[in-house]
Amino acid sequence: MKIIEVRNLRKKYPNHLAVEDVSFEVAEGEIFGILGPNGAGKTTTVECVAGLRKADGGTVRVTGLDPHEDRDELRQVLGMQLQSAALPEKIKVWEALDLYASFYPDPADWTELMERVGLGDKRDTTFKKLSGGQRQRLSVALALIGRPRVAVLDELTTGLDPQARRDTWELVEQIRESGVTIVLVTHFMEEAERLCDRLALIDAGKVVATDTPAGLIAQVGGEQRVRFRPSAPVDDAVLLAVPEVREVRRSGEQVTVSGSGNLAPAVTLALAQHQIVPGDLRIEQATLDDAFLALTGRKLS
Ligand code: ADP
Repeated sequence: MKIIEVRNLRKKYPNHLAVEDVSFEVAEGEIFGILGPNGAGKTTTVECVAGLRKADGGTVRVTGLDPHEDRDELRQVLGMQLQSAALPEKIKVWEALDLYASFYPDPADWTELMERVGLGDKRDTTFKKLSGGQRQRLSVALALIGRPRVAVLDELTTGLDPQARRDTWELVEQIRESGVTIVLVTHFMEEAERLCDRLALIDAGKVVATDTPAGLIAQVGGEQRVRFRPSAPVDDAVLLAVPEVREVRRSGEQVTVSGSGNLAPAVTLALAQHQIVPGDLRIEQATLDDAFLALTGRKLS
């Protein structure tokens, strides 16, 4: 079932067309990513979905609701992660949770939620004294407190160190496992590739492609490269006879083979048939960055 439908969304600020033409659908239960460089129109898009901004054109439906007309009903189904800086410095973790819970008729048990986001031992800590990662996790808990069916998480891991980022990714996966559909806004390719079931690539206010991460990479060729140093001389012909291989290049002793499909196992097998071992074997695959570059002519980051 489609839980979110966005058709030809358009949003203009006084001097800037932030969203020109954005369409996508989110299925219930998925982690849907909106990936694009800074300024692409991602936040404006999700603010229109959450009813925080009024679109100038197109239609948005969330569980059939119009975010602008049906704001009160929407609040019961959609949780938006607010930028954590919006909280007062002196508010304690438990107070923030208790306050937000009071906004909903049937809130989640905030003690349980506090444990789930790993803030159980920070219950009495003030917002000011939380680390960046702890603040992000608190903002996620606040987005979930109304038991939403959809949670929108915007640039969740920006500014976090690698460990805090990985912890946050795990939290996002747990939230999905609990049955919540997630819309994840990010400009961070690795995050989109790791977490999202499907994603829309957005550039300059338009969707350039929507697919699974692997599908997007495959759309632009899905080329792989395998580099190695053979244990004994190998003829190009041996490698070019492998159906997956398209090209063989050499640099000194190093051989680089490009191609697609199950390239690395196919090459390793062909070498083994000639009693050759590939030393220093490296496999390089195309990434979402490569896909974005191929689709827009620009680098994602
Ligand atoms: P993203 O989330 O992809 O970084 P945004 O949706 O925040 O992009 O912004 C898209 C464009 O709209 C940017 O060029 C930004 O400067 C502009 N913009 C965002 N918010 C406003 C606003 N309140 N008033 C005017 N321009 C804005």
